[in-house]
Amino acid sequence: MGERKFIYSSLAFLLCLLAYQAAPFLKRALDSAEADQTSQFHLVPILCFHNIDGTGPYSVSQERFRYYLEEIRNSGVRVIPLRSLVAQARENRLLRTPSVVITIDDDYENIARVAAPILREFHYPATFFFYIQDIGENPRYGTSWDDLRRLHAEGFDIQNHSYSHTAFHHALPEETAAMYQARVDREIVLSKQIFESKIPDLDVYAFAYPMGYYSAPLRARLMDAGYEILLTTDARPVDLSRPFDPTFHRYTIQKYFVRDPEAMFRLQLRYATRPYEADNVARTDTGDH
Ligand SMILES: [Zn+2]
Repeated sequence: MGERKFIYSSLAFLLCLLAYQAAPFLKRALDSAEADQTSQFHLVPILCFHNIDGTGPYSVSQERFRYYLEEIRNSGVRVIPLRSLVAQARENRLLRTPSVVITIDDDYENIARVAAPILREFHYPATFFFYIQDIGENPRYGTSWDDLRRLHAEGFDIQNHSYSHTAFHHALPEETAAMYQARVDREIVLSKQIFESKIPDLDVYAFAYPMGYYSAPLRARLMDAGYEILLTTDARPVDLSRPFDPTFHRYTIQKYFVRDPEAMFRLQLRYATRPYEADNVARTDTGDH
């Protein structure tokens, strides 16, 4: 009996010792599992590209564009549609997965011919901001309405970047109030009507300010015209923990005005992957998009 008792107590002692030794590892494993379950992300950068042919100050090369998409994937960041981000922002819902949005501006022909096929390879959603004036029925170069209809049918988001791609945030000195109003209507109301009449089932809900110029009166006019969100090029991420603001800022990834596009891009990934820390955690997104 005494011998058996000794064996049992030795065994118990060994088990305790083992548990004690393993405790830090167990604790770490549990902590990281818990962190994965509870981490939430509130900063969502919107990336803005232009030209994908590597020429000119607004462009990135095709190889570079692909590299950025690969780096997004390698860093565990998800690309979500702009429309989903709007829905999350309206309800102040934080995200379970670090996320970014991809947008491309202007009417470069390589958007439909080069950028869209690369995005399709990655299964990444994107919003393209086109302006009316340079879109033709059958252009030799540039973008056609058929291109836009095809992109829309493929699931890409087509949104408005004005009629003429000129600055109209203020009246010109020689303009009367009526003249200015007519000009603004063409840029924001007529352009919306043309997009929605040329592309079946298109809902134009977003407006990207040409060259990033905006003003408070113009913002009021755009909201009256039925836009849900307005996009600038002021470099700031969308913050899902703050009250909804229809002005969304974006980061331009290009050579012009951006001294180091790679560093700018890396900064966006850091914003996206920074966990939210606050006592008051907003409601969390539960589903995928
Ligand atoms: Zn533009």
